[in-house]
Amino acid sequence: MKKFELMALPYAPDALEPVISKETIAFHHGKHLAGYMNNLNAMLEGSPLAGLPLEEVALKAEGGMQNNAGQILNHEMYFEQFCVSKAENKPAGQLAEAIERDFVSFEAFKEEFQKKGATLFGSGWVWLSATPTPQSDEQLPSGRGAVGKLVITQEANAANPIQKGLKPLLTFDVWEHAYYLDYQNRRADHLAALWQIIDWEVIESRLSK
Ligand code: MN
Repeated sequence: MKKFELMALPYAPDALEPVISKETIAFHHGKHLAGYMNNLNAMLEGSPLAGLPLEEVALKAEGGMQNNAGQILNHEMYFEQFCVSKAENKPAGQLAEAIERDFVSFEAFKEEFQKKGATLFGSGWVWLSATPTPQSDEQLPSGRGAVGKLVITQEANAANPIQKGLKPLLTFDVWEHAYYLDYQNRRADHLAALWQIIDWEVIESRLSK
């Protein structure tokens, strides 16, 4: 059976400093994500879900297998969305326009997203997603196409918005392992710093997937 393999990071382990330290990356990618991969590969041996794409496993599995598949899916999207820190870092194009349409401004969007991340009780993820099929009234004012309504959701533990029929675009991991070495209990400070390293081109490319 073909096994799921640990993704390679698209940047050097210290590239996200000081927002995320190389020590956090080493544990988060090299230990936590690797652990979910090993768990899932072991659970899939002899399972009828063996050989399916990761998304299908996350949708069809139950219990521990669903949790491990969900965590892998979440972390792959998480680690792919970062880049070296930029001073003026914000979305452009269709995505910027849809954020303004649905949240009034990028600043208001960031505030709501951070608040939902900071107030999620326990372990989980905060997500920006789009409804998958844009309606005719969701045409962007500029005429640059249609983007489904954008929504922010809190997902507990290993859940992913695909399990609600949404198209996931951006995520912040609020499990303590994502920030404890660098920020200890200051989750809100960690979330506020993450905006500096979001690769908005990656996020926008997810709109058309
Ligand atoms: Mn994590």
